Amino acid sequence: MRKQIVAGNWKMNNDLSQTKSLIDALKSKTKTSNAEVMVAPTFTNLSHASSVLKNTNVEVIAQNMHFAENGAYTGEISASMLKSIGIETVILGHSERREYFNETDELLAKKVDAALAKGMRVIFCFGEELADRKSGNEETVVGNQIKNALFHLNAASYQNIVLAYEPVWAIGTGETASPEQAQDMHAFIRKTLADKYGDNVADEVSILYGGSVKPANAEEIFSKPDVDGGLIGGAALNADDFFAIVNAF
Ligand code: PEP
Repeated sequence: MRKQIVAGNWKMNNDLSQTKSLIDALKSKTKTSNAEVMVAPTFTNLSHASSVLKNTNVEVIAQNMHFAENGAYTGEISASMLKSIGIETVILGHSERREYFNETDELLAKKVDAALAKGMRVIFCFGEELADRKSGNEETVVGNQIKNALFHLNAASYQNIVLAYEPVWAIGTGETASPEQAQDMHAFIRKTLADKYGDNVADEVSILYGGSVKPANAEEIFSKPDVDGGLIGGAALNADDFFAIVNAF
């Protein structure tokens, strides 16, 4: 059985006191679905969030990490540092990292390797831009992102990989891929995995959708057979909205 996952990416939002308030609000919510729930605060609030949410049903995860173990990489954070404060999962390849910090598939392959080598779970993000979809190239773009960053991995590594399809044109724009567009792409992603690794791997990997998921559209998107959950940006900053999405399964 594939895991259902709803992960909130808080991005560069919330100082410590705002983070405390949001965590308090999350702790007051009841989960009625089977989805695994994760939240990704900023680095400065990770340690606090991780200790306060320990032993709850909300896992605290990181938004990014560097591939090196340690060394002269000013401003960066390593997998070991994340693990040392109890973080077991990291988001890699978010479109904002690709766009504003020039993260390439080749760099991301190194980050994925570093996270897996430490036994961490990776939520690997990718997705096409609007121009790619308008020109009908969305499957080629997405297929290449997956191949370039992940196809050097062996089949067993996929036990620790979660995929997140996030069409760039739907992130933070209010524009959502239709449930059918999401399903079509998720089915393509699963077939891409199946062609390389076989059905056993492809059937077990959770594929999340991200891009303007809200309480009003979550249920329909999550009802699609190849959509195993969501990576949520804006709506994850509000505990009511986030738990409405978590409970939309
Ligand atoms: C995201 O940043 O991963 C995201 C999906 O954002 P939003 O939900 O705000 O579109």
